[in-house]
Amino acid sequence: MPTSLHDLTFDELRELIVRDGLRPAHSATLWNALHFRADTDLNQRTDFLPPLRKWLDAKMGTEYHTDVLAIASEIFSGDDLTRKYLLKLQDGQEIETVVMGYPGRHTACVSTQAGCAMGCVFCATGQMGFVRHLRPGEIVAQVHHARRILRESGERLRNLVLMGMGEPLHNYDNVMKALGIISDTRGANIGPSKISISTVGVVPGILRMAEENSRYNLAVSLHGSTEAERAALIPANQRWPLSELIAACRTYCEKTERKIFFAWTLIAGVNDTPEHARRLAALLSGIKAHVNLIPLNETAGYEGRESVETAGEVFHRIVQEVGIPCTVRQRRGIDVAAGCGQLKAEKRRRGEKSTL
Ligand code: SAH
Ligand code: SF4
Repeated sequence: MPTSLHDLTFDELRELIVRDGLRPAHSATLWNALHFRADTDLNQRTDFLPPLRKWLDAKMGTEYHTDVLAIASEIFSGDDLTRKYLLKLQDGQEIETVVMGYPGRHTACVSTQAGCAMGCVFCATGQMGFVRHLRPGEIVAQVHHARRILRESGERLRNLVLMGMGEPLHNYDNVMKALGIISDTRGANIGPSKISISTVGVVPGILRMAEENSRYNLAVSLHGSTEAERAALIPANQRWPLSELIAACRTYCEKTERKIFFAWTLIAGVNDTPEHARRLAALLSGIKAHVNLIPLNETAGYEGRESVETAGEVFHRIVQEVGIPCTVRQRRGIDVAAGCGQLKAEKRRRGEKSTL
């Protein structure tokens, strides 16, 4: 299997170039094409010096390849602010990438795995099961796809969230390597403070981020504030119980002095009552927290329903009253099946050819 050039850090690319007998300076040219310009076809470049050109002609396709993802489907929301893509990987797997935003502050939401092993009952990706981890280059390629899309309208990608398909901390090494490449100032240059990793609560991953003093933002998907309630929604709670998760969050906050964003998907009657809000507030006491309330995107595989607006408002007020900043995530792109894994699930329902 050829090595993807998109899997490599700047230093690794330079090592490879030098090992193959080229001058190190060629690695900067190649890196620029791969990660700054996000070229889709290196053959189109006419400005490469002859040694680099010759090297590419000899090696691409046999020893090396690049990750450029073909568009399998795309949907635009009515207001055109959310664009959702189903992108095809080289082995035929399809993953979702979403580009959201207003002029000047665009965000890409990328996938870290094909499918997901965590099985959250309300999540379309969880309902599909796990297929495989994405390589760093496959994560980087989604960012470059978003950058090319935005570039067409003169916009720049500024923020990145790992909230697409998959559990980022279940694919820790590949995700962190990808983020290193994406935040490299010689390439996509999206700073760590503009990148958010969302986890279902993989405790060893959170502790590793704390240990490494990771500079990325951390979001933890909570959705329940007792072991039983959370486990009913998130099977992974059996592996990493809420008590251990909260302890890991405290460690993270102490070590990094950062706040944690806690996601809470509001499901009618399941976790959206004032009692739930009070228990959440108590659970988070002493943690530097910001709560994000997310309206449930209803999926075919789960009978839960979206909360009524007033329940969300009361919940919001109770959390804020104890001094925890709390925001209700905007209902963006609902008309484009914007929930995680839903475009893929929709395609399957319509009976189109699918590899998952
Ligand atoms: N695996 C990671 C990141 C991907 S999911 C995680 O679980 O955090 C990103 C967010 O979308 C999570 O907070 C998840 O709970 C939420 N989510 C998934 N399916 C949803 C749905 N149908 N409606 C609302 N939120 C959903
Ligand atoms: Fe996986 Fe996140 Fe979906 Fe849970 S919510 S199944 S962890 S992608």
